[in-house]
Amino acid sequence: MKSPRFDIDLDKHYKATVVIACPACGHENRHHLASLQPDSTLACVCGSDISLTAYGLQSAHDKAAAIKAAYHINAA
Ligand SMILES: [Zn+2]
Repeated sequence: MKSPRFDIDLDKHYKATVVIACPACGHENRHHLASLQPDSTLACVCGSDISLTAYGLQSAHDKAAAIKAAYHINAA
């Protein structure tokens, strides 16, 4: 399975949000990183299923940690 492209954002509470671009339509789907489970499937507005592998999710966590470190945020 192809891993979708994603970006990490921090919201105003410094919660990590994953912005996942739908491989089918390009729509950006936002989900809180903490709410995502490995290999779970998210439904895009276009009806496509998007899934983040355990590896993808791990790299999302790594990116979020790097962003928090860069901004000197200690919040979990
Ligand atoms: Zn879509």
